Amino acid sequence: MSAAPAKKAPPCPICGRPATPEAKPFCSPRCADIDLGRWLGERYVIPGPPDENTPPPRPESDDDRSR
Ligand SMILES: [Zn+2]
Repeated sequence: MSAAPAKKAPPCPICGRPATPEAKPFCSPRCADIDLGRWLGERYVIPGPPDENTPPPRPESDDDRSR
């Protein structure tokens, strides 16, 4: 195994151009914006299951303790 120089920046995931240190890991703030929009869009598209059922009430009935 030879130690390879890890100085190769990954290409922009949006357009594939070499990323710049200014907008890592994107090539430009614009691509970063696009990626962000994608994320938000995906979140919108993903149909979330209706998880709005309230938890069941506790079976304990300690109403006598109040008296
Ligand atoms: Zn780009």
